[in-house]
Amino acid sequence: LIAKKSKNCYVFFSKRIHLQLIKKIEIEQALQNALVKNEITLVYQPQLNAQHELYGVEALVRWNNEKLGIISPEIFIPIAEKTGLMPAIGAYIMNKAMADISTLQYKMKKSFKLSINVSARQFVQLNFFEALCDCLNCYKSPYMDITIEITESLFIENVQRLRPIFKKMKEQNVSLSLDDFGTGYSSLSMLKNVPIDELKIDKSFIDFITDNKNDRAMVESIITMGKNLGMTVLAEGVETEKQVTILKNKGCDLYQGYYFSKPLTLDALEVFIGNPR
Ligand code: C2E
Ligand code: MG
Ligand code: MG
Ligand code: MG
Repeated sequence: LIAKKSKNCYVFFSKRIHLQLIKKIEIEQALQNALVKNEITLVYQPQLNAQHELYGVEALVRWNNEKLGIISPEIFIPIAEKTGLMPAIGAYIMNKAMADISTLQYKMKKSFKLSINVSARQFVQLNFFEALCDCLNCYKSPYMDITIEITESLFIENVQRLRPIFKKMKEQNVSLSLDDFGTGYSSLSMLKNVPIDELKIDKSFIDFITDNKNDRAMVESIITMGKNLGMTVLAEGVETEKQVTILKNKGCDLYQGYYFSKPLTLDALEVFIGNPR
């Protein structure tokens, strides 16, 4: 046990908590330098239509630190948000993704959608929309087709406040996708008057559609509802052929998951586009 004197009593940390604390401080410090040290990179996961043709890609961020190893975005993005690093990292991601993909699109003379994840804090930041417009102007191209993914929980908490930004996004032809749908308890009545173009059914629903008839029923309802509201419906985390067959029968529009492809480096994406599954 490690004791620390605070005011008039001693506080005891277990060694494990102490180590976790050190690790967290280490991560925070390393993250400060991650951008300048070129440790932040992007990979792209293909999204296909029911004919297995490429429809788009989702940019997914990776952080590889020489001392700490590979750290998942699920760990470091919340830390980046808390320590104020997210606007810089977010702007970097937006720039890099558009630069990578517009170059590839010109090379292949092919248009496809680029989806970019935007975190809660990033989206409500005043200069988010300006940063987005800067990128759109910088990488303007006839092939470019941008979608912003925001998670369902962010969306529910801020829908009224965000309405003006959604409207401005529409004016720039940027689409909006609701990520991790089904995990955030949005009320169905809210969905009917928001400008959502795409619904991403969360992987946790897709996981059990082959053996659980309740999950199958849920997914079927989400697909029907989304399509009736004029949205494109995408299933995320598709891992087996059986899942694809069930989803196709239910009329799902788009598919993303390891069955088709893991997230790829830009070079590997180019190969994939040349010969998709
Ligand atoms: P997400 O946006 O829901 O992304 C899907 C996650 O599921 C990705 O994990 C992807 O690699 C993984 N995945 C895709 N297909 C399969 C599959 O068939 N099986 C399994 N087991 N996993 C699959 P990743 O890349 O670790 O990202 C995790 C989360 O981190 C993302 O969830 C997103 O919320 C966040 N994130 C990733 N990149 C960014 C980014 O650039 N900006 C922001 N703000 N958040 C990001
Ligand atoms: Mg996403
Ligand atoms: Mg998702
Ligand atoms: Mg997710």
